[in-house]
Amino acid sequence: MPSRKKATGLKACRDCKFLNKQSATECENCGSKRFAEVWDGLIILYNVESSQVAQSLSIKKPGRYALKLY
Ligand SMILES: [Zn+2]
Repeated sequence: MPSRKKATGLKACRDCKFLNKQSATECENCGSKRFAEVWDGLIILYNVESSQVAQSLSIKKPGRYALKLY
């Protein structure tokens, strides 16, 4: 069963999982230059201060995040 998929136009930061534009050279969230082109699971966080998901993932900036990187 194939579980990997590639979303068009976004790549995930390997350090914070923030989803950046394909054209980005460094992560908008943490400045890392290491990206995963293939990732799975998408969460969108608006209110990071009150989100338990954000806290459990150590997310500080609102945005779109991948759950799993390959
Ligand atoms: Zn990052």
